[in-house]
Amino acid sequence: MKTEGKRIGLMGGSFDPIHYGHLVLAEEMRSKLSLDKVIFIPVGRAPHKRAEQMTKPRQRYDMVMLATLDHPNFEVSAIEIEREEVTYSFETVAHIAKNSAPGDEFYFIAGADALMELETWRSVEVLLKMVTFVGAARPGTDQQELIQKMEQLRQRYGASIKLVELPELDISSTDLRRRVRLGLSVKYLMPESVSLYIGKHKLYLKELSHERLSD
Ligand code: ATP
Ligand code: MG
Repeated sequence: MKTEGKRIGLMGGSFDPIHYGHLVLAEEMRSKLSLDKVIFIPVGRAPHKRAEQMTKPRQRYDMVMLATLDHPNFEVSAIEIEREEVTYSFETVAHIAKNSAPGDEFYFIAGADALMELETWRSVEVLLKMVTFVGAARPGTDQQELIQKMEQLRQRYGASIKLVELPELDISSTDLRRRVRLGLSVKYLMPESVSLYIGKHKLYLKELSHERLSD
């Protein structure tokens, strides 16, 4: 008997830490695109960041777990954090696709900033053959530029790519790290469980090494 495949959202990120911007993005995509589930994939070692520039993979993973615990359709994958070497999205997606049922469809979820720099990703043409890319604006996004970029990606790679409207939240992990460091409130910007975890593990009290010169 032929069964219909699942519609699966994939969302990669540093999640250093996870916040409501990420969660609203994932939930809006889930509901608007009728996704069966969204898999959060914390990056292990990102190609563009050295290991010491990020919080330990295990701790970022734990925070994503805590933040998604109450959602029946959200899952977290440890596929990238379990690897020592730098990981690339195209390999991760290929691995997930290989281990899923035939007919499953993949939707790669990203904010506008990620979409704008998509072409710098390793083997993006391979990634774009495996997924529909679904993007959303972030505060500060130049809508015109974003639409141009999407058109370029369609023409260059035959990309299937959509823009989904959602409430834009001006929240970033960078700002949250700064808030924690300065002792400012993070309430209503991230789940309480995540801020408790941050307190318990004394995260973000010092700048990550690449941030020392900023602010
Ligand atoms: P940092 O400031 O450290 O870069 P970040 O807040 O951008 O952190 P990431 O983990 O880099 O978070 O982002 C993972 C994915 O979530 C990216 O595709 C990013 O565009 C998207 N994203 C993050 N914050 C938002 C937001 N507030 N609204 C929409 N998309 C977001
Ligand atoms: Mg970012």
